[in-house]
Amino acid sequence: MTSTMTDYTRLRDDLLAKLPAVKSFIGGEWIESPNGETFDSISPVTNQPIAKVYKQNAEGARKAVQAARASFDGGKWSRMPAQERGRYLRKIAELIRARADEISVLESADTGIPIHQIRGGQVLRAADNFDFFAEMATHLTGETYPVGETFFNYSVHRPVGVALLITPWNTPFMLETWKVAPCLSAGNSAILKPASWSPLSAYVLAQIIEEAGLPPGAFNLVYGPGEGVGASMAADPDVNLISFTGETTTGKRLMHSGADTLKRYSMELGGKSPVIVFEDADLDRALDAAIFGVFSLNGERCTAGSRLLLQRSIHVDFIGKLVERVANIRVGDPMDPSTDVGPLIHHQHLDKVLGYLDVGRQEGATIAVGGTRPDDPALARGNYLNPTVMTGVRNDMRVAQEEIFGPVQVVIPFEDEAEALRIANDVRYGLAAYLWTSDGQRATRFAPEIESGMVWVNSQNVRDLRTPFGGMKESGIGREGGTHSYEFYTETKTIHVALGSHPIPKMGLPAK
Ligand code: NAD
Repeated sequence: MTSTMTDYTRLRDDLLAKLPAVKSFIGGEWIESPNGETFDSISPVTNQPIAKVYKQNAEGARKAVQAARASFDGGKWSRMPAQERGRYLRKIAELIRARADEISVLESADTGIPIHQIRGGQVLRAADNFDFFAEMATHLTGETYPVGETFFNYSVHRPVGVALLITPWNTPFMLETWKVAPCLSAGNSAILKPASWSPLSAYVLAQIIEEAGLPPGAFNLVYGPGEGVGASMAADPDVNLISFTGETTTGKRLMHSGADTLKRYSMELGGKSPVIVFEDADLDRALDAAIFGVFSLNGERCTAGSRLLLQRSIHVDFIGKLVERVANIRVGDPMDPSTDVGPLIHHQHLDKVLGYLDVGRQEGATIAVGGTRPDDPALARGNYLNPTVMTGVRNDMRVAQEEIFGPVQVVIPFEDEAEALRIANDVRYGLAAYLWTSDGQRATRFAPEIESGMVWVNSQNVRDLRTPFGGMKESGIGREGGTHSYEFYTETKTIHVALGSHPIPKMGLPAK
């Protein structure tokens, strides 16, 4: 495993120098765009282009849907026994592990996420996704419903058809594999449409899937604007289901695009997740988790604990320690293994996050730490922002209600359990929540009352792949993970079999 900044930087430069203009992968072939148009991937470190990507339009999008449809209907993948499909998926996992350095470096170059967070976690998790769903698919069973001696009913799971998988730019590789693996394991044909700000790791994924030898059209990769190719594929009658991860507003638009053809949706959307710390908690551990939970992955994390709710009795002390630690977080080049926070993905996104700092100031919040760009001249060209904590925040302020999606945490005090719950739930999102208390009864009472799809109790965000993942309220629709993925990626059919001659009402006989 490569380990120094020099090694990673050299590998990055080498890979980018050799990278051709990135093509889409459709029907088993590498395709340029119909009119030769490209877009650039921009480095968050320098704001200079690092790669060119062929940009598909409606014609390319249609081609991908047709290829996926033909593959699905042809049956080579969709009718293959699950165990055999599993062998292909395990091969993909193996190839991801073999190319983990390369994937990590490209993803870090594309997104600005610190290399050690990708290499040490995200990429390995991506490989795990394939191994896990390779196994899961072989355990997919139906149910039987014997009805006395007259009927025998049973259910079977079948793949649904063509799945459109639309992914965001934050932690792209992990999120892409989180969709592609269960989708393929169930026997569907997949079309992956990655975000245009982070196209590179998906390119390696497509190469790996090609090398693993899946039948042509079972997996397709299409690059292009969401409003264009994303929306046109969403409206295409040959697409059956859409798994989307991204902003809540985009999710709503996407539902309109697919409404006329009644798509099946899984929606993993935005969040504004509370970290609730009671005075009886293990405060050192709560502090570690509260910091890691919002400042890792540059704060560009759907489940970030971006609202820190502190019981008033510990509020001042806790903030003191928080500010001291946050001021020490290492901001720097993402290729440096000692960097904790890298540059934000795009200068437009940095502007958005900086805009929220202005909003907070205007609303009367105090920037207790951060709020500025780093002084280091070596970082001047990148989209860097010092990790920021805002105090004096009320829950009705925009900075407490809207997803900032950067290294920014807002702190809100509360008196007691009732107020903590009211504040935690007084938000339109409901993705994750983190609860810190040593009182077991309180934890057991409180956790189910929080309006979020997932609650971590005295824990940072550690997820077992078998557990359901998804949000409530405006954070999403549906759950993926473990068997829940198959509720989305398969059709459950019920088959009713008569075992004898049960009575059938007769109509249309001559009148007696
Ligand atoms: P985004 O909504 O801007 O884009 C996501 C994807 O949708 C991109 O591929 C984009 O090209 C595509 N898209 C945009 N408009 C479209 C349209 N009209 N039709 C079809 N596709 C369209 O999101 P983003 O800025 O890339 O990602 C950040 C957001 O993702 C945050 O809100 C974050 O919370 C959310 N997110 C949620 C989860 C989760 O699991 N709940 C996980 C990660 C990120």
